[in-house]
Amino acid sequence: MRGEPTSWWLREALESEGDRGERTPLTTAEEVDVALVGGGYTGLWTALALKERDPGLRVAVLEADVCGSGASGRNGGFLHGYWYDLPRLRAAFGDAGAAEVAIAGGHVVPAVEAFCAAHCEDVWLEQGGHMRVALTPEQDVRLAGVVDAARKLGFADEAQLLDRRAVADRCRSPAFRGGVFFRDCATIQPARLVRALRRAALAAGVAVYEDSRVLELAKGPGPYVLRTAAGSIGADDVVVATNAAATGWSPVRRRLTNFGSCAVMTEPVPHVLREIGWTGGEALSDARTFLRYFRTTPDGRVLMGTASGPIGRGGRVGAQFDFDGPSVDRAKAGLRRLLPAVADRAGIAGAWGGAVDVAADHFPFVGTVPRTRIHYAVGYSGHGTGPSWIAGQALASLITGADDRWSRLPLVNRGGRRFPPEPFKYVGGRAVRAAMLACEEAQEGGRRQPTAARAVAKLPTLLGIRLGR
Ligand SMILES: Cc1cc2nc3c(=O)[nH]c(=O)nc-3n(C[C@H](O)[C@H](O)[C@H](O)COP(=O)(O)OP(=O)(O)OC[C@H]3O[C@@H](n4cnc5c(N)ncnc54)[C@H](O)[C@@H]3O)c2cc1C
Repeated sequence: MRGEPTSWWLREALESEGDRGERTPLTTAEEVDVALVGGGYTGLWTALALKERDPGLRVAVLEADVCGSGASGRNGGFLHGYWYDLPRLRAAFGDAGAAEVAIAGGHVVPAVEAFCAAHCEDVWLEQGGHMRVALTPEQDVRLAGVVDAARKLGFADEAQLLDRRAVADRCRSPAFRGGVFFRDCATIQPARLVRALRRAALAAGVAVYEDSRVLELAKGPGPYVLRTAAGSIGADDVVVATNAAATGWSPVRRRLTNFGSCAVMTEPVPHVLREIGWTGGEALSDARTFLRYFRTTPDGRVLMGTASGPIGRGGRVGAQFDFDGPSVDRAKAGLRRLLPAVADRAGIAGAWGGAVDVAADHFPFVGTVPRTRIHYAVGYSGHGTGPSWIAGQALASLITGADDRWSRLPLVNRGGRRFPPEPFKYVGGRAVRAAMLACEEAQEGGRRQPTAARAVAKLPTLLGIRLGR
């Protein structure tokens, strides 16, 4: 991001701060205990967790642009843990591991609420829950599986099956057939949260350097040395918190790929929201593979997002992720199809995209590169707004050597499925994505899925790889 932010959220957050120009780049040679590369949620939650545990630690965050210029300032603002993904959690970590991760996720919303209260920050947090809606019979089955998994693990209250009428009580749409309600979810203004974290980090004594892209990470005679264009910083511990930009980094390269996610924001239409009965602040998503996610804002806008953006090649995160015309068109089409009353009467106030760091099993991995003091948290797979808080706790535990519930989470220092090497990762990913989109478009339109597309769309499952969310 250079100049005007692409995301409506970041524009709003920076304007509300009134200090848009205030950035401190690194221009000297510094020494710290911990250097965090990346000023999004992961870097900043980790910095705060470290300071909470040991206020004497010297901590620095190095951000290439402004804090919030990455996905943390662009996302849908769905703040939640993992109840929505229990079947896949069970497949990845077994029943006990799935329960452990899901319970950890349950701490996210209270933690963000407590953070905002302690720092007098308003991030537009609204606890309206999350309703996933089914648009096709295939999606009915998918959602029933989530309810079943919650029941089997003893968490029936966390995933409540809704029939068509119960869904319409929360939001009326001609496309919704049924759904599942997860009470554990809030919506936030995502860029306000990342900017609030930056303020809190500065207040806690963290050095936050913006406009400070790390160009090199070298092993010095003593600590590591991170070099930017105008300065350097020595650090005993380094955290790579660069999200999709880490995709080309060798320790995680084979376990990560990039997809784009894209959103449009409407002008305020509170009267239309009242007409369709969507006034409870629920975050909504459908049950497609490349899902659509949609939510309201306190002034009655609707954000409609689609996880069907472009695919990155060779770990490069280029401008194609900031704005992708076909993805914007898909988001607008989603608005027309799912919320026609809104689409008919609301203008579009903004459209933007961002890169998502996708793990083969769609769960993040937090860890330390073997025989080093270099740590990382990546692989959120389009679901990191809440999980980055968990990662921050786990990274702080790894750095301080704490053997606790965070360092022992199944997400920490885990193996994980690998993607094929490039160029197969890119070429195969593109083909499969196109096939899945074609299949799901056909399903939604009540048409037969194209036979070739169906065959290609099955490939990732055969390889144990998940695409979409
Ligand atoms: C459009 C979109 C919608 C999404 N919606 C949701 C949602 O509703 N709910 C949800 O849970 N998740 C969502 N996500 C995912 C979520 O936003 C991310 O998982 C989360 O923000 C990750 O935080 P992060 O700090 O790891 O990454 P980021 O916020 O991307 O931060 C990484 C930072 O590293 C910086 N950086 C990169 N390279 C360097 C370098 N060499 N030196 C210094 N700095 C560097 C970048 O500038 C960036 O600011 C969405 C993502 C997108 C793109």
